[in-house]
Amino acid sequence: MGNVFRGSGRHLDLSNGGTEVFIDVLMLAVSDLADAEWDYRFAALLTLQDQNVMGRGAVGFDLWDIAWGASTAECARSKDFVLRTVGLALCRHRWSELGYDPPFARGYLLQFESMVKSFVPTDGTQFGEGFPSPEERAVASCARHRILSALPHWEGCFLCNRPRSY
Ligand SMILES: [Zn+2]
Repeated sequence: MGNVFRGSGRHLDLSNGGTEVFIDVLMLAVSDLADAEWDYRFAALLTLQDQNVMGRGAVGFDLWDIAWGASTAECARSKDFVLRTVGLALCRHRWSELGYDPPFARGYLLQFESMVKSFVPTDGTQFGEGFPSPEERAVASCARHRILSALPHWEGCFLCNRPRSY
């Protein structure tokens, strides 16, 4: 079992453990970069990839499922934000807080970066179903870890909720 992230006619196929690593390093980056409302909606999409909440092997998304924006300028800004998030994660941003050494994370991030780079976001509302609405954006920040969280687990971030001993 695993999860698939799609876009630009390409797939990033990850095992359940690989998905966890991939989303963890993105969460650490997005939590410090998010500024505009859209950024917090993207962060909420990432929180929805938590398999402890959604089920093992039951996550993944397609770049077409993302509501990139209502105009070409908005789409470009959103895409730039995702690429900045991936870029920050590639700098091993806050990886020391993970409590583990994320193996292969760099490779996952590079594959995802390449998918996003070659993806051309389309403005309008025909896509974007399943993308968190402005009301569903990740507004809560865990006080202990300073990581964004959103429904369905307002109680804490992924590090708070992780069933691990560290
Ligand atoms: Zn936390």
